[in-house]
This record gives sequence, C-alpha cells and structure tokens, in this order.
Amino acid sequence: MHPLEHFCCQNKDCPDHGHRAKGNLYFRGWSGKNRRIRMVYCRTCKRSFSERKGTPLEGGRLPEDKAVALLAHLREGCGTRATSRLVHVDKNTVTRYVRLAGPHAQALHHEKVAFSPRDAGGPTR
Ligand SMILES: [Zn+2]
Repeated sequence: MHPLEHFCCQNKDCPDHGHRAKGNLYFRGWSGKNRRIRMVYCRTCKRSFSERKGTPLEGGRLPEDKAVALLAHLREGCGTRATSRLVHVDKNTVTRYVRLAGPHAQALHHEKVAFSPRDAGGPTR
C-alpha cells in the first residue's frame, strides 16, 4: 500500500496531471477481484482511476507479490529466462512486464533527475 502522496492524477487533460501531493487526490472505493485495488479520485478533474494506473502493475494479471518479485529480479540484472525460472512464471509473461516496466522506469528516471535532490520530500543524497 502506498501513501496518497505517492500518487498523481493520471488524467492527461487535468491541470494537476503529474503533480504529486497537491491535495487534489483522495481514496474512494475499491476495484479489482477481491476489491484489493484502491481507487484514487481527483477533485480537480473529478475523475477516478485505479491506484495501479501508470505503474507497471497496471494491466498485469499476476498477483502483486509475484509481479513485484519479477520486477525485483529484472532490476537485479536477471535475464528474462532466469527471471521466469526463479519467479515461476512464463517467459512471455516476463517479456510483457519488461515492456510494461521499461517506459515507466524511464519516466521515473526523468522525473527524479528533473528535480534537485533538495526538493521537499525528496531523499537526501
Ligand atoms: Zn485530475
């Protein structure tokens, strides 16, 4: 579970799109099988989206712990085949997550380097 400050509005037409912790978001309701995925609602544009939207987990059919393990292996430099063997998932599933995670990791990287490390709330390095 991530705190609300980690989310930003996912509606590209919203003035608050991409801005975190602006006070425009709150959790409203649940979705998904077993209702384990929270819905995030944006006051600014009055849209709601799943907390997985914009993350590599969106649209992924694996349980979250498995998806997280899979991504962790990839991050540690395991190849597609090694990861599929270690996490016990199909190689094609790994490939799909590589595709999902790639652009996300890149976007996150751009976001991180775009800000000075002294920005409020950022980790001190
Ligand atoms: Zn919005």
